[in-house]
Amino acid sequence: MVDQASATRILTFAPAVPIPDYLVGEVQSKLAYVDEAIENAQVTASGDRIELKLRQPANADRQAELQEKVQRVVISMAKGAFKPKIQVLEDHLDRPVPYHKDPMQELTSHGEISQEANGIFSLGPMLTRLIDYFESRFLELADSFGAAPYRFPTLIPAKYLERVNYFHAFPHSLTFATHLREDLDAIDHFAQNAACDEHGLNSPPESFAQVQALLSPAVCYHLYFSLADRPLPGGQIAATAVGNCFRYEAINLVSLERLWNFTMREIIFVGPKDYVLENREQGRQRMERILEEIGLAYRVESANDPFFIGEFRKQAAFQSAFQLKFEIRARLPFRDSTLAVGSYNYHQDFFGRSLNITLPDGSAAHTGCVAFGLERMAFAFLAQYGLNAENWPASVRDASGG
Ligand code: ATP
Ligand code: ZN
Ligand code: MG
Repeated sequence: MVDQASATRILTFAPAVPIPDYLVGEVQSKLAYVDEAIENAQVTASGDRIELKLRQPANADRQAELQEKVQRVVISMAKGAFKPKIQVLEDHLDRPVPYHKDPMQELTSHGEISQEANGIFSLGPMLTRLIDYFESRFLELADSFGAAPYRFPTLIPAKYLERVNYFHAFPHSLTFATHLREDLDAIDHFAQNAACDEHGLNSPPESFAQVQALLSPAVCYHLYFSLADRPLPGGQIAATAVGNCFRYEAINLVSLERLWNFTMREIIFVGPKDYVLENREQGRQRMERILEEIGLAYRVESANDPFFIGEFRKQAAFQSAFQLKFEIRARLPFRDSTLAVGSYNYHQDFFGRSLNITLPDGSAAHTGCVAFGLERMAFAFLAQYGLNAENWPASVRDASGG
C-alpha cells in the first residue's frame, strides 16, 4: 500500500559521505544498477546532493530502502578515496571544430540511425562509410606493427571469463546467452506460447538452459584465451581484430555514446614487459598523427576501468598508480564535456599469470591493447564536424566518399 501523503517519485538527499568531484561521474554511473525502480539518477556536480527519479511513487519504507542502497554505493566508492593524479599525455582539446550541436536528431532525421531498443542501433550508409574510413586508419596503424589479423567469436564461454576474474570486477555489465533446453516439451511449449509483453519475452525461466556462454565484453580476451596454458609462440605477438562487444549499462544507455552492443577494433600486444609498453607508446604516438589528419579535438589522459562498486576503489587506485590505462577523450562541444573514443591499456602480467601464458624464460607474458570504439569515433567526429561533409577535413571527406 502506498501512503499517498508521503509517496513520491522524486527523492533528494545528501550523500552519507561527500562525493569528491572526480568521483561524481563514476558514482552516478553506478547508481543505474542500484534498483529497478530508479528511472534516473543524478549527482550534482559538487557532489553534495543525489536526486533519484523513480518509475512509480514510493512509500516511506521503500524510500528508506532505496536511500540505504544508494548510500552503500556512495560509502563504498567515496569513503577514504583519494584523488588520482590525472596525467595528460596529449592535449588537442582546443583544436578548432565547426559544429556544436548534438548530432543525434539529425542522424535520426537523415535515416542514419535507427534505434531497435535501448542501446541497440542500426547505422546507415554515411555512418558506415565513416566507420569504414576510421577502420582503414586503424588497420594502417595495425599494419605498422605487422599485427596479424584475427577473427573472434561474439560468444565467450563463462569459464573463460571466470578464469580472468571478470565476474568479480564487472558483474553489472555482463550479458548472458542461453537457449531453450534440449527438451521437446519445453521447445513445444515455447513454440506455442512465446510472446512479448512490455517486460519482454514471457517464457518461464526454466525453459532455458543454464548459462554456459556470454556475449563478449571485449575483443582482446579471445586472443589471450587462444594462447593459454602454453609457451608464447615466438616470444611475442602483435595481433588485430574487430568485434562486437556487449556491455549492459542500464539507464546509462543513451544515444550512440553508450551502447549495449558496440564494435571495437583492437591492436593487441603479448610478450615481455618492455615490448608491450614500447608498442603501446608507439601506438599512441602514431595515432596522434592520424587523429591530427582526422581533425579530432581530444586529449589523452590517464583513466581507470569501470569496476563494480566493491572493486572500484582498490582497482582504480592500482590502475592509476601503475599508469595502466589512458583514454583518448574526444570533445563533445554540444555538452562541453569529453567522451572516451579509445584507450591504451597495459595489463601487466595479469592475463599471462591467470592464463598461464609463458615467455621463453618461463615468466608470465605481459599484455596490452590499443582499443577503439567505432560507433563512438563516428559519434564524436560528427559532434565536432556535423553531418555536412563539406565541413569535414578533406582527408576524411575524400576517403569516406562523404
Ligand atoms: P567508458 O569509460 O566511457 O565507460 P570504458 O573505459 O569502459 O569506457 P574501454 O573498456 O577502454 O572503455 O573500451 C574501449 C573503447 O570502447 C572505449 O574507449 C569506447 O570507445 C568503447 N566503448 C566502451 N564501452 C562502450 C559502450 N557502452 N558503448 C559504445 N562504446 C563503448
Ligand atoms: Zn583489449
Ligand atoms: Mg573509461
